Amino acid sequence: MQDRVGSFQHGGRSTGARPVLDSLWRGAALKCPACGRGAMFRRYLKVVDACPHCGEELHHHRADDAPPYFTIVIVGHVVVGLVLAVEMAYRPPLWLHAALWLPLTVILALLILPVVKGALVALQWALLLHGFDPDAKEVIGDGLPEVSPSVSRRLDFRP
Ligand SMILES: [Zn+2]
Repeated sequence: MQDRVGSFQHGGRSTGARPVLDSLWRGAALKCPACGRGAMFRRYLKVVDACPHCGEELHHHRADDAPPYFTIVIVGHVVVGLVLAVEMAYRPPLWLHAALWLPLTVILALLILPVVKGALVALQWALLLHGFDPDAKEVIGDGLPEVSPSVSRRLDFRP
């Protein structure tokens, strides 16, 4: 299957060019970084195993704690800037600050989190990280090296 950047599917992984900026924009738009058409998420923050449009495997991502971290940085800078600007200009009572900024913080974080996660998954895809490399070997199990039988015997605590 061919997509816009001229790549071909090979075992669920495209082998063509992976432009970083284009991929970031597609991911931030919650779309597949390979084709830009299929949805990246099947639920709010649940990444699809493979793109429903082009079949690109997206389950290799390891976004982990990065999306919340960057979301906190972004929302914090926006909200703190607004709080300081409103405080300097109007000096509203504290209850008004709480009524304004607490809901705004929660709403902004919930809106931005999938965008940031989509961009980070797309970045990992574009940089061939975490199994997105078409030449990567499949990881079986947890990816940890096998424990030798002698070590395994020493770790066996059965009576
Ligand atoms: Zn796709």
